[in-house]
Amino acid sequence: MNTTDRQHFLAGKRIIVAGAGIGGLTFCIALQHFLDNTTEKIEPPPTLIVYERDTSIDAIGREGYSLSLRGDALSGGMQTLQKLGILDEMIAESNPGMHFTLFNTDFSPLMQIRSPPVEGLSQSSMRIARSKLREILIKNVPSSVIINWNCAVKSAHELDDGQILIDLADGTQEQCHLLIVADGSNSIIRKVLRPEHILNFAGAVIIAARTRALDKLPSPIDKTWGAVLGGNGHFLFVAPSDRTSALWSVSYLSDTPREPKAAGTMTDNEIDEILTEAKERTKVYGEPMPTLFQETLRSSVAVFNAKDMIPFRNHGSVIFIGDAQHALSPFAGNGANMAIMDGYQLADKLVHAKDLSTAIKSYDDLSIPRSTSAINMSHRSITIGHSQGFWKYMWVAVLKLMAWYFNLNYSCDQQ
Ligand SMILES: Cc1cc2nc3c(=O)[nH]c(=O)nc-3n(C[C@H](O)[C@H](O)[C@H](O)COP(=O)(O)OP(=O)(O)OC[C@H]3O[C@@H](n4cnc5c(N)ncnc54)[C@H](O)[C@@H]3O)c2cc1C
Repeated sequence: MNTTDRQHFLAGKRIIVAGAGIGGLTFCIALQHFLDNTTEKIEPPPTLIVYERDTSIDAIGREGYSLSLRGDALSGGMQTLQKLGILDEMIAESNPGMHFTLFNTDFSPLMQIRSPPVEGLSQSSMRIARSKLREILIKNVPSSVIINWNCAVKSAHELDDGQILIDLADGTQEQCHLLIVADGSNSIIRKVLRPEHILNFAGAVIIAARTRALDKLPSPIDKTWGAVLGGNGHFLFVAPSDRTSALWSVSYLSDTPREPKAAGTMTDNEIDEILTEAKERTKVYGEPMPTLFQETLRSSVAVFNAKDMIPFRNHGSVIFIGDAQHALSPFAGNGANMAIMDGYQLADKLVHAKDLSTAIKSYDDLSIPRSTSAINMSHRSITIGHSQGFWKYMWVAVLKLMAWYFNLNYSCDQQ
């Protein structure tokens, strides 16, 4: 048999994707993109089936935060969306503001950072509501892909013949040749098949919420997003969460994780207590904080711990991507970029590698170093963000130097 006769290892295979989040959906779009564009015909083409825990309405409506998508050297989320032909659609739906600002406590700008231009991109970064990003990804999933909503994967078993048997929430079982695990940072499948890989507390506790829809976003969030180093151990982050509402989060360092409280699960008294605590922690900040508190949607108030996980290598017929493989805390500001790149690059490697183990190795060789760098950077952000007194000024000087060195087009508008 010569190479042209040899059947591609994906031919006729049944692939199941667990999780229709950012990484899982990008993988579905990218696999079709590479199947359509490869010179080697893969016949019969692989079948792609997705199982997602949420209903499709939850998937679009429930997630009230926004994400930075980036085109810098570490994160190529913008470039990847462009290669898939969906960047313009995302930009059209993105939030106001094209740059990050480090603010003084009165919200005057201390330092503004703009990503350097990227050749071929109309803009090199954006912020977009997570729900919008996901809605556009869902819209672009090829019609040949079956998405089963409201159907969580409960467990998975690696069979002796290399196939995978999965247990679904409705009590049925499904079998596949390849399982792509994209079920996020608390991955159930990781707990079953790779229990040694666990989330670690990254040392910061976060209180967060968003406002109701406003007639107008308060200044300066109508033009930028950013953070304040309180200099007293608190790190405040503010941004538009979509085009009409804003989000805020205040975090502090802790030796131990705090009991998490998910949005929408607290009593009125608990919400009052947490809002009082958040106001106390942010009392040194001027407007727009009082307005953001006044307009806060009570059902959106949440307390959670920053957690991450050292990335691990894949093997066999189960491939972990995104947060399931390398969970990042929000301090990375990069987990969605990583998940987008993972989905794209795994699809690329699967279509173009000579066999499955080469594809997996090539994918891990890309995903592990970049997510490790992003996690390391997030740990530095946690240290810098919560620095106190003299250290705050030291870090601001270091940040200015880094912005200059990496050509981040920064400007210091004050001081
Ligand atoms: C507050 C906050 C701010 C952030 N800011 C940024 C940012 O600015 N930039 C950035 O790049 N990243 C940011 N991130 C990180 C980013 O959201 C995640 O890293 C990214 O969503 C990971 O993508 P994923 O596809 O791996 O997982 P997810 O997008 O979480 O998707 C996992 C999917 O799996 C589904 N699922 C879960 N369990 C099961 C199951 N058992 N069976 C089937 N389906 C299941 C879930 O419902 C979900 O749809 C932020 C995160 C948070 C919490």
